[in-house]
Amino acid sequence: MVITLQPFADIDAVRRALVARGLWVSLVRSAQGAPSHFVVDPGSSPAEPSELARIEGVASVGAAPSPHPRVDAQGPVVDVRGLAVGGARPVFLCGPCGVESEDQLQRIAAVVASAGAHFLRGGAFKPRTSPYAFQGHGSEALRWLRRTADRHGLRVVTEVLAEGDVPLVAEHADLMQVGSRNMQNFALLKAVGRAGRPVLLKRAMSATVAEWLLAGEYLLVHGAPGVVFCERGIRSFDPSTRNLLDLGAVALLSQVHRVPVVVDPSHATGRRELVGPLSKAALAAGAAGVMIECHDDPGGALSDGPQALLPQQLRDVLASLGGTV
Ligand code: PEP
Ligand code: MN
Repeated sequence: MVITLQPFADIDAVRRALVARGLWVSLVRSAQGAPSHFVVDPGSSPAEPSELARIEGVASVGAAPSPHPRVDAQGPVVDVRGLAVGGARPVFLCGPCGVESEDQLQRIAAVVASAGAHFLRGGAFKPRTSPYAFQGHGSEALRWLRRTADRHGLRVVTEVLAEGDVPLVAEHADLMQVGSRNMQNFALLKAVGRAGRPVLLKRAMSATVAEWLLAGEYLLVHGAPGVVFCERGIRSFDPSTRNLLDLGAVALLSQVHRVPVVVDPSHATGRRELVGPLSKAALAAGAAGVMIECHDDPGGALSDGPQALLPQQLRDVLASLGGTV
């Protein structure tokens, strides 16, 4: 937003009025003859331009065009196979980090369904830092996911890693996940958008909110019917937790940008004892739901065992969040 001043305005008085409204502003002094103006930083509180225009000394208020009009127009609710993500009730997306076998998935899905979750999560294609680590069972795991979720009345959310896998993942998933490592893989975003399914867009570990929103814009402009954003922790200097959960960004997306955002406290902290408290904090900040990893044998898990909740812990956490048990 740009606030243009009248020729003899009391610049300090206008600045005080703007700062009092929670706006971060910088003054651009006029070249001779032209009016000075304040540029409002995007990190400011929301303000009504017509109200700002009434401040004494202000000549006019111009809105800079939004770089993500489709995200702005989407609204706070995304429908995923009849379920309102961002509606009155929080949604729970739970399951193992990786799909390890059909038996494993079957056992965990029974727990996930009985705990009151709405989605079965699990990676068929796993983005692993080491090429020697478990990479996922691919298309076979997608079939297990679909079959198991249907048996338990759950929806499927699973990650698509590569452009070439988009049609196959779209065929099996209700919500297609773009992982943090791919948030700015623009070729993948275009292909996922064209698949015409709602998308869970995880925030990259060093992405700004502006970059995250623009990645959402890519998906929408290429045809995605809706984007649910997912905060999963950003890189920080402190190794006490795996990542740093940015609840400020969650509040910003839900309260200011008015888009649905879910929180993944499992990857955000890497510590199972922090998943419950941070899930509550996430919902208090305006999250539409939480994505939680769980396992019936975390010690034997092929990925992310240390952060996986045990079955009873998952039931307790979801019950404490208002899930049905
Ligand atoms: C996941 O949810 O399976 C995952 C790999 O998470 P992230 O992309 O947030 O690391
Ligand atoms: Mn994981």
